[in-house]
Amino acid sequence: MPSDLLENLNPKQLEAVTAPEESVLILAGAGSGKTRVLTTRVAWLLEEHLATTSEILAVTFTNKAAKEMVTRLESMLPYDLKRMWIGTFHGLCNRILRRHAEYAGLPKSFQIIDSADQLAMVKRIMKAANVDPERTDPRSVTSFINWMKEQGVRAAHSGSIGGADNSLKVDLYRAYENECQKQGVVDFAELLLRCYELLERNELVRVHYQQRFRHILVDEFQDTNVLQYRWLKLLAGTGLGPDGGALNSVFAVGDDDQSIYAFRGANVGNMTDFIKDFHVSNPIRLEQNYRSTKAILDAANGLIEQNEGRLGKNLWTDGAKGEKITVKELDTDIEEARWVADQMENAREKGAKWRDFAVLYRTNAQSRSIETELSGRGIPYRVYGGLRFFERAEVKNVLGYLRMITNPWDDTSFLRVVNTPARGIGAKSIEVLQNAARERGISLWAALTDRMIEKPAKLTAFENLITQMRIAADGMPLLEAINHVIKASGLEEAARKEKDGGDRVENMREVISAAKGWLENEKVELNHPAFAPVSDDSPSPMEGFLTQATLEAGDRNEKADQDAVQLMTVHSAKGLEFPWVWIIGAEEGLFPHFSAIKTESKGSKGGGLEEERRLMYVAITRAKKHLAFTHARERLMFGNAFKNPLSSFVKEIPQALLDIRPAKKGYQPAYEDEDQDEKGWGRSWGSSGRSGRSQGRGGYGSSTYGRSSSMGSGDSMSFRGTGQFDAMQKKAAEQS
Ligand code: ATP
Ligand code: MG
Repeated sequence: MPSDLLENLNPKQLEAVTAPEESVLILAGAGSGKTRVLTTRVAWLLEEHLATTSEILAVTFTNKAAKEMVTRLESMLPYDLKRMWIGTFHGLCNRILRRHAEYAGLPKSFQIIDSADQLAMVKRIMKAANVDPERTDPRSVTSFINWMKEQGVRAAHSGSIGGADNSLKVDLYRAYENECQKQGVVDFAELLLRCYELLERNELVRVHYQQRFRHILVDEFQDTNVLQYRWLKLLAGTGLGPDGGALNSVFAVGDDDQSIYAFRGANVGNMTDFIKDFHVSNPIRLEQNYRSTKAILDAANGLIEQNEGRLGKNLWTDGAKGEKITVKELDTDIEEARWVADQMENAREKGAKWRDFAVLYRTNAQSRSIETELSGRGIPYRVYGGLRFFERAEVKNVLGYLRMITNPWDDTSFLRVVNTPARGIGAKSIEVLQNAARERGISLWAALTDRMIEKPAKLTAFENLITQMRIAADGMPLLEAINHVIKASGLEEAARKEKDGGDRVENMREVISAAKGWLENEKVELNHPAFAPVSDDSPSPMEGFLTQATLEAGDRNEKADQDAVQLMTVHSAKGLEFPWVWIIGAEEGLFPHFSAIKTESKGSKGGGLEEERRLMYVAITRAKKHLAFTHARERLMFGNAFKNPLSSFVKEIPQALLDIRPAKKGYQPAYEDEDQDEKGWGRSWGSSGRSGRSQGRGGYGSSTYGRSSSMGSGDSMSFRGTGQFDAMQKKAAEQS
């Protein structure tokens, strides 16, 4: 191994990288080098000949992180890493399922459905079962299904969950399972559950992987859910190793303070279980932070200390103190966007690059005003998440056709494209077909091609279209096949006729570029036939590409080194770092989000608010050198104007670290609680002098909103704005 690699590690990191080949838990705060240690561990194992590339399985939280890890390893090592498995839980499960589809009870060309398609399917099932969507929210049904799957529970075993409401949901869950099976589609949660069941039930498959993956490495371990943890245990062979430990070495790194997916079933308890189940003798702690200035780190530490029940750790840096953290008040969200863009332009004049800047927000909807501002100024930017490329309607239409010629039994795709572009197939005809399919318990395509079933001629024309498309595409390479589908489907022509169809045509053609990027990435020959498997180990280019389009909806073939400002939610910023960070919408109701405040104020323990605080901790610790919070006195959300007070989380940061900049002089503070008592934040903030607010007015003050435990006055939490939160929640539900 190039020895300088190890030289750059501190003693604790070195200990972690070179730990014996047993299971290892690294419990360490943000920016302490966990990901770096994990990557170096892989390099070390290979260099020391303790493992071959095919014996390594590394789990990352996003596809982007997986790619970054491969790139780093490639720059460190002279090996071909093709045989090493690096990916997300979903990606890895998909890979295993593709290889053993028949054992998993799936068609070889099974398709993955995203959450929008899942919701559409649930709605159809509810309609067929005469369940009133006004009384039973289809979203609550999908959440129920996903939650059950994440707990590893099938509909058949959900019986013990009492209550009439739940018994309806269990019935719908069962119908949904049948429907997916019939159509050969799996949702995201199913990928995991199906793979888990395969490993659990099929000894041959299980033993094969247990013998193969001698080293399993997991980043962001704090966010694994119950099922993922059980999956890891199966692969690692817990209980099968010497003296009852695991057969294989699992190297897990995580930070309990950054657990932000409890709402989706992640379980921090996995960290303590891990120590027990995997016989970890001594968890390693890394305490030196290499990412942020002292001011930023102190702010993060000050905030997270308010949480209870932490595993506890000290994080320090010997880096520079750095500048204070800006807290900027603006009049409106539009002003907020302007101010952020101004700041960026200033910094850029002084030598920063666009890519050094990140804007983080709590909810996707907040990106809009920033996007408008940046594009108005011609500043290049990239939005992660949000409505992603592969989720755009015109792109999904193209994918719908591609899926139809790959697996025509997929009802979701069938319904998407049967009358897109419009070809005169009415709702009536489709309903006739749906009824026929339901009666016989078959897919729409099966009903369509059943000669015994009478159907309108236009439907037969559709059948011919799909069949011809499939025949035509059969010998073609992937790019040619996609091009053929865009044209033969009539999608392109229809878009050209529309007023603003140009963009849409461009997006459709982008699918071809995305596919090209995929082929290059996977090192598949451009002229390899679309439907022929690439090797024993990998599916056909068409299947591979469609999988990535669903699983990695955001990470299309992007040039990572593109010089652009990055916009993303805090959730998607996990693990990343940027020299400059703006956390916009630092307001009570937005961040912490009203839904968390609400559950908390209803007295639900286990802390929606604590999870929000961890989320803010993640946000703050993304910043290396410069950090600013912004909050608007008035903000347009969901078409309504909201006046939110400053986030209580900002108030929990030691005040000496902050540089508070109010909106223009002469304004009345936008905050409620003008006459707060003198004990609360009102006083300390109001008296700072810097804020320009007169003392006693309370400025930012509100011990009502703030969690005042740092002031030693307990946690009274009452929310005057609860009515407002209700309104927001209602609006949000309508919009999403
Ligand atoms: P997070 O919890 O946010 O995922 P992390 O613990 O994974 O953070 P890394 O991303 O691995 O931290 O490291 C943070 C930064 O510190 C990176 O830029 C990394 O290169 C740098 N770093 C880590 N260890 C060292 C070291 N020993 N010397 C210098 N820089 C280091
Ligand atoms: Mg990391």
